[in-house]
Amino acid sequence: MKLVFLGPPGAGKGTQAMGVAEHYGIAHISTGDMLRSEIREGTSLGREAQAYMDKGELVPDSVIVGMVKNRIAQEDCKNGFLLDGFPRTVPQAEALDQMGVRIDLVVSIEVRDEAIVKRMSGRRVCDCCGASYHVEFNPSKDGKTCDKDGTVLTQRKDDQPEVVLDRLSTYHQQTEPIKSYYKGTGKLRLVDGEQPVSEVTDAVFATIDSVQ
Ligand code: ADP
Ligand code: AMP
Repeated sequence: MKLVFLGPPGAGKGTQAMGVAEHYGIAHISTGDMLRSEIREGTSLGREAQAYMDKGELVPDSVIVGMVKNRIAQEDCKNGFLLDGFPRTVPQAEALDQMGVRIDLVVSIEVRDEAIVKRMSGRRVCDCCGASYHVEFNPSKDGKTCDKDGTVLTQRKDDQPEVVLDRLSTYHQQTEPIKSYYKGTGKLRLVDGEQPVSEVTDAVFATIDSVQ
């Protein structure tokens, strides 16, 4: 199965993606996590990406498309994959088609801008496995370390309110048009992301199971 999760930054894509990928035995591909790992390793791709990410802008399509193409060719993607944070522009969606990838379902997690800034200021992440928590809405067991691997949780640099506003504007201008692109294929489903985490999880699973 090949899935895409769409939605604004902070919609809850990463929060939902881990359980979904595990349940269906498919790879979870987060382009944001891949870029942050390139930055940590100090690669030239990471250095190029960082300037865009710090400003809340998108990394150029050419860089991202090449990275995703290599990733989905790996062995753990044979069974399928869940793309989280890709495609983020219509040319990226077109590139996916040109690679011959047939997407089964696009789930758009819908959250209004007003709710996003509050979510981002309380987000805490695990730099090791990419798990995402929230100090109030979805805390880790001890509030400090990752439940999965014990790594100390950190705040993302691009979660500061001023960068979040830029990321939201980037989303509306460049990513939201993808919804029309996929609506035309009949593959798009919307899920209300402004419910508690467990209710969003139920809605996401029900949506995926309805097209299986
Ligand atoms: P995305 O991957 O879409 O950028 P995340 O999954 O990292 O978003 O979620 C952003 C923040 O919102 C995190 O702090 C997460 O714990 C929190 N969050 C996720 N889903 C919900 C929800 N349904 N209600 C409240 N907070 C949520
Ligand atoms: P995310 O972790 O999905 O919130 O992504 C963090 C940042 O990485 C974004 O604000 C972009 O700068 C960059 N990024 C992630 N995925 C993409 C993509 N598909 N296209 C362009 N930039 C991306």
